Amino acid sequence: PLQYIIGEQAFFGRSFAVRPGVLIPRPETEILVEQTLRHAGRLWPDTAALDVLDIGTGSGAIALTLAAERPRWRVTTVDLSPTALAIARENAQRLQVEYRVRFLEGDLAQPLLAAGEQVDLLVSNPPYIPSDEVERLEEEVNRFEPRLALDGGADGLVCYRRICAVLPRLIRPTALVAFEVGIHQAGAVRQLLLASGAVERTEIVPDLAGIERVVLGWRKSN
Ligand code: GLN
Repeated sequence: PLQYIIGEQAFFGRSFAVRPGVLIPRPETEILVEQTLRHAGRLWPDTAALDVLDIGTGSGAIALTLAAERPRWRVTTVDLSPTALAIARENAQRLQVEYRVRFLEGDLAQPLLAAGEQVDLLVSNPPYIPSDEVERLEEEVNRFEPRLALDGGADGLVCYRRICAVLPRLIRPTALVAFEVGIHQAGAVRQLLLASGAVERTEIVPDLAGIERVVLGWRKSN
């Protein structure tokens, strides 16, 4: 991929370092960021100091953009890949947000659960391609980009299922969850969010190709 050769990819108006070992940020993921900012603005004042968790950070495009856009947010990133975390740290320095972002190596929400921490806002673009479809992705993707960032298990929904199972312990009484999803997955992910018992309302937002791309869930305590 050209982005690995030149070593960077623009995302939400900023330049991110990318190398083999992290997924190249996709333009449709900007919609996840845009919707997260918009819905957070409905739940909290822009000046609120929210605890934000990004699961499966990769290059840091999502988490670091949120940190740059909302200087009061305290952002935690988790990734299973030390290579990805090293690149995300480098990008945090590039964007001068490294003092407000924490980098944790681990499996999905596990590092936060282990510490007994909760968050106001959870965002994730987990691997969501069904395992047997990864081989059939275009060559530029499946030969060069990390399988860890793509393979979402047999039906592609494994990460959503595992995250939703722990949502009641992970999010605060007023909270926002924002997921990017793959094609034809939005309905199933919405059901997982509602079935978790931690979310009262959901919304599905299409990308510019008309594919349902972002699933939001939230609840507001009175
Ligand atoms: N959107 C990516 C692709 O089409 C997949 C990213 C993911 O699995 N989260 O290759």
